[in-house]
Amino acid sequence: MIGWPVKHSRSPLIHNYWIQRHGLAAEYRREEVPPEAFAEFVTHLSAHGYVGANVTIPHKEAALALSEPDDRARAVGAANTLWIDGNRLCSTNTDVEGFTANLDTVVPGWDSGADDAVVLGAGGSARAVIYGLIERGYRRIHVVNRTAERAQALRMRFGHAVEPAHWSALPHLLSRAGLLVNTTSLGMRGQPPLSVDLAPLPQEAVVADLVYVPLQTALLQAARQRGLATADGLGMLLHQAVRGFQLWFGVRPEVTAELRALVEADLLKPEE
Ligand code: NAP
Repeated sequence: MIGWPVKHSRSPLIHNYWIQRHGLAAEYRREEVPPEAFAEFVTHLSAHGYVGANVTIPHKEAALALSEPDDRARAVGAANTLWIDGNRLCSTNTDVEGFTANLDTVVPGWDSGADDAVVLGAGGSARAVIYGLIERGYRRIHVVNRTAERAQALRMRFGHAVEPAHWSALPHLLSRAGLLVNTTSLGMRGQPPLSVDLAPLPQEAVVADLVYVPLQTALLQAARQRGLATADGLGMLLHQAVRGFQLWFGVRPEVTAELRALVEADLLKPEE
């Protein structure tokens, strides 16, 4: 994992668990690389001893520009996974499948209605979520964001399925939504709370939160209290890691209950 900073990344825990399970002679490491050194580092990944890498803040856009991105990374506008194919440095964005695969696992059939979804937020992770929802055939994706221009920009990027809306429209939008997704950082430890009244949501609606610190966000708790199906941010984090591992090592790893428990325990540790 290449980042700046990178100390809090849980990716080493996930990938080293799979490396051990599959008996591979490999190691997944953190690399703290400042922006000015990033280009040299990724364009010489194998010289640094690597078959590939994950990339996080603030390098995701630079990673896209320095590699050959697939359709997902290009559409999302950011790459989080790099691998070497011959002498090409390739990239993808695995947040898209992290989001959809997690929902497929915890709420099978979640996309069967696929009409209206409400997405809170319009940042980097919203782009991955929206791309995934369009792939799954959602017809209207209502994007509600503090900064209206950013939601508008997503309509320019992804087309007319994206419908920017104001927070004040939420009760009406939720009343016909099959899915609500929080992609803002609200509700994350150290950030302001997210307050949304879930009462208007239909009983069959699904609520997903990308935030995973804390694991049980107030949004997910409120959804469960209402008896709604939920998908949490840790599930997405685990599922997004699958494809990178497969690209680097040629084996498709499994998101097991044991792995989830391992990362949960780490998330519950007091901060250093
Ligand atoms: P980002 O690009 O910085 O976007 C942040 C979003 O949150 C923007 O829409 C921003 O609105 C909104 N926001 C922030 N503070 C706000 C406030 N006080 N009031 C209203 N809106 C506010 O971040 P990101 O990369 O999309 O990540 C967002 C969250 O998703 C983070 O908590 C991250 O940890 C989580 N995440 C989880 C996964 C996973 O695998 N589970 C993957 C990616 C991200 P403005 O546009 O108005 O600033």
